Amino acid sequence: VRRNAGEPEFHQAVREVLESLGRVVAKRPDYLEDALIERICEPERQIIFRVPWTDDKGRVQINRGFRVQFSSAMGPYKGGLRFHPSVNVGIIKFLGFEQIFKNALTGLPIGGGKGGSDFDPKGRSDGEVMRFCQSFMTELYRHLGEYTDVPAGDIGVGAREIGYLFGQYKRLTNRYEAGVLTGKGLFYGGSLARKEATGYGNTYFTQAMLRTGGSDFDGKTVVVSGSGNVATYTIEKVQEFGGKVVACSDSSGYIVDESGLDLDLIKEIKEVRRGRVSQYARLKGEGNGVYFVKSGEGSIWDVACDVAMPSATQNELTGKDAAKLVKNGVTAVGEGANMPCTPEAIRTFQQAGVKFGPGKAANAGGVATSALEMQQNASRDRWSFEKTEARLADIMRDIHDSCYTTAEEFGAPGDYVIGANIAGFIRVAEPMRAFGVI
Ligand code: NDP
Repeated sequence: VRRNAGEPEFHQAVREVLESLGRVVAKRPDYLEDALIERICEPERQIIFRVPWTDDKGRVQINRGFRVQFSSAMGPYKGGLRFHPSVNVGIIKFLGFEQIFKNALTGLPIGGGKGGSDFDPKGRSDGEVMRFCQSFMTELYRHLGEYTDVPAGDIGVGAREIGYLFGQYKRLTNRYEAGVLTGKGLFYGGSLARKEATGYGNTYFTQAMLRTGGSDFDGKTVVVSGSGNVATYTIEKVQEFGGKVVACSDSSGYIVDESGLDLDLIKEIKEVRRGRVSQYARLKGEGNGVYFVKSGEGSIWDVACDVAMPSATQNELTGKDAAKLVKNGVTAVGEGANMPCTPEAIRTFQQAGVKFGPGKAANAGGVATSALEMQQNASRDRWSFEKTEARLADIMRDIHDSCYTTAEEFGAPGDYVIGANIAGFIRVAEPMRAFGVI
């Protein structure tokens, strides 16, 4: 705790994994040898750097950049970049730590890492975002490479930012190294279905959980928080599976449409206008079950639903929210975001018998499809949307089944948290042991 002072999110993520590992070491005490567990909790390398850039008024701005290269036991470090004012080293470490197990669960050869900056792209012009990204990459490029470290997007980092970052990497290294970043545009090495992958993947995972109880999305009422990349494509897939999504949100508040959200309108507001969800009520017309609730005046989790899919940010769903959801009859929760449910919320769901899919399993579809993008880049190939989505669907079913069977094997049937933590840990621990003490 002293070594990682002031990093509550990192402590929270580590504690959850360690709580599960007691069951592993009881069966396999050899995992206690050579400080294997302590080593997995210590990043291999952490890079913190200054990012100076000039805004549109000619003023010099300074941000802080991070890249935590957590574990390369399974392959090159892999994990997104987050640009958000709340970013600090503890947040990046929690995300990097989760990423190790998530990436291992995909069954693909990728290690764990994460990075980002406290830069806030909101309200910044394209020129400002470009200059920031170029400055960020001017430091970071020396630590990257298709066999070393392969970043992608996360909160605040989408196709526009990846384009600027890739352009600067190419310029600095004089190499067209397509596999150094994922989430690229389709016209320069990106993969079809990558944009959709995290949201679609969570929907496949949650569907697999529902099916263990003989049910499905068809006819279910669903609430999805957020309205960014993950949320948008979760809504799309849930609707395709026959579910009715009645609410989504952003940091300004949440929007409800009791007859089911109009996804085209949300895409227009968020992807084209880069606007706020509050515009939905104005454009669709308030009344008839359509209303907006400002942030601070209520919680999106007050909206009754059968399935909840938190897809905005960490610790957005508290114990109190979970109690409300349970009271309103929720039967399944699939985490699209990383660690969106607090430990109290998870306990509340599990005690009430709600099927709970933790982010490191349920949202692994994004990084899995990033690994498929790397495969396409390495073989100079391009797969169809259908082929890529079919691979994603298989991967998500495999992740679900391995969490499910591991939980059973370790005496916690139905507990996907324990299943994901143990299955992910074993996959990383074996190569670590093979490599000796490094
Ligand atoms: P985006 O930036 O596209 O969207 C984030 C959404 O969450 C926005 O609607 C944003 O609202 C909202 N949000 C972010 N921070 C806050 C906050 N502090 N309070 C309230 N709302 C907030 O990001 P993504 O959709 O890519 O990421 C969402 C989550 O999913 C993150 O936890 C990310 O780590 C996780 N994830 C993403 C993957 C991916 O492939 N993109 C892969 C796996 C996990 P606003 O615009 O108002 O800020």
